[in-house]
Amino acid sequence: MVLLRGIGVSGGIAAGRLSFYKRQEGDIPRYTDADSEGQWRRFDEARCEAVRQIQRLAEQMRGMSEAGASGAASEAGSYAGIASAEEAAQILEAQAVMAMDPELAEAVRVRIRQTHDNAEAAVMDAAGEAAARIAALGDDFMTARAADVKDVARRIVAAMGRPETMGRSAPTGRRLQDMQPPEVRISESTAAVPVILAADDLTPGETLHLDRAKILGFVTAGGSAAGHTAILARTMGIPAVIGAGGILEPEYEGQEILMDGDTGEIAVAPDAETRARFFGKADRRRREAESLAALKGKPAVTGGGRSIRLCCNISFPADVPAVIANDAEGIGLFRSECLFLGRTSAPSEEEQFEAYRQVLSAMDGRPVTIRTLDAGSDKQAAYLGLGAEANPALGNRGIRLSLGCPELFRVQLRALARASAYGKLRIMFPMVTSVWEVAEAKKLFGQVLSELRREGTAFAPEIPVGIMVETPAAALISDRLAKETDFFSIGTNDLTQYTLACDRQGRETPADPAVTDNAPVSDKEAQKPAPRPVYDPHHPAVLRLLELTVKNAAAAGIPAGICGELAADREMTEYFLSIGVGELSVPPRDILPLRKKIRNL
Ligand code: PEP
Ligand code: MG
Repeated sequence: MVLLRGIGVSGGIAAGRLSFYKRQEGDIPRYTDADSEGQWRRFDEARCEAVRQIQRLAEQMRGMSEAGASGAASEAGSYAGIASAEEAAQILEAQAVMAMDPELAEAVRVRIRQTHDNAEAAVMDAAGEAAARIAALGDDFMTARAADVKDVARRIVAAMGRPETMGRSAPTGRRLQDMQPPEVRISESTAAVPVILAADDLTPGETLHLDRAKILGFVTAGGSAAGHTAILARTMGIPAVIGAGGILEPEYEGQEILMDGDTGEIAVAPDAETRARFFGKADRRRREAESLAALKGKPAVTGGGRSIRLCCNISFPADVPAVIANDAEGIGLFRSECLFLGRTSAPSEEEQFEAYRQVLSAMDGRPVTIRTLDAGSDKQAAYLGLGAEANPALGNRGIRLSLGCPELFRVQLRALARASAYGKLRIMFPMVTSVWEVAEAKKLFGQVLSELRREGTAFAPEIPVGIMVETPAAALISDRLAKETDFFSIGTNDLTQYTLACDRQGRETPADPAVTDNAPVSDKEAQKPAPRPVYDPHHPAVLRLLELTVKNAAAAGIPAGICGELAADREMTEYFLSIGVGELSVPPRDILPLRKKIRNL
């Protein structure tokens, strides 16, 4: 037996035989052709065809997503499919834009005209170079974009078909391979049974095409926890371990593997003891999920009568069925920027209104906190024209960006105010550092409300306006900010980043560096706790700012909640209750475990 460790990014235990992903990139035909015009036409027609195919796929995904959303899923399990369909549609739409990228086209044209490359080789090489440039920018977001570019190139090549089928004869002296559309090809030794897939990396498109009946889980050498592949794995409910480096040897092909998507542990040819450990954990997970279901409908109150509101963080209206299935008391953070990313222009007022209305209506009177656009930093949209910044996390983002684009902000505020007529809306501004920012934003909101009143458009009589406290500046002047706002929501993710001067997007590394050096570790070593990372939301400096914020909120008589990832940390629940935090907002699957924790205090 060999025990290895990568980074677990999608929970669950999987057991099966290992199969290396065969991408068949070496099968791209390569030859020179003096007919540059003909090769250019092949590329041009293929990219249009690829866009049509991608758009069709995106529409199918949207359809799946909508069907799921209106189907009022009652099981947490159905959430996975719905969320992945919506996110998949957005990823595909972004890929359709990339396929028509003028820079990619120019790079292909140069290869075809100057070196007389055939169209397949030209597009694969041009995309490979573009992807390398993007990946060199180094962060997780860019790694995911680089994978998208390569995926798009494969789709264009697949859309070219064979030269014969395009009315041309194959160049002599060359053996042309069948060009397959991108798909998962399971090695022949294990194709008949479900497998655990191993790959250098999987593009989002490849992940989307994984046949869930055949793929029990996957392990990739590269990847990033915040990349689309990891997100899709989580939403598809496929256990996944990334960042496994070079630890999976070719001779493991076909061997029995156990993997743990929570801890990142991988056991090759496990012994009886290891099997018992993994299977025992899988059993415990199953039993735990069953017992938690009994807590639905019960309040989050401690034995001593203290309570805390448990709400969900969401990205899309399609996430609402999971919120309801997990019996959350409301939505504490709707990251509205998800509606703005992966597209070529901002969503219109109508489109935004419809998304907000859907969420408010579905929540049926339960509170819904919608955060205004938090773009910038790692959440870039080309149409916002932000340009390159040396330190984007410290640059034009959140409320700064919205105040700098008053028309964009006004459209969002109008959509929000109109949607308020359909439920219990609270509006929240992100990345606040100064009182004047809140005053400016509230002034614009006041103007929007006057405008709607004049038009005779309905909106709720009371729309609480709050802020995210996620910068040290906001926490330190929270006494003053509390006088301007109706509530605080503490964003521990950014508060940690800015307090500790530590990039939250930093690439994660496996817990035990010895493992990445391709050194199998003993069972005991594999269980060693991870070294304490520098990015630490439990740092006393972060907790002091958090306490100060809650104290200042209480003094001003406004509620304070937490919507950063720390809210789901059950080791912290008792502390949060003791300092008077009124709300915790967490991913849907964390609601019932937190409720259990609170009821046991
Ligand atoms: C936070 O910073 O804690 C937060 C909730 O916002 P986001 O993670 O979207 O930046
Ligand atoms: Mg934040």
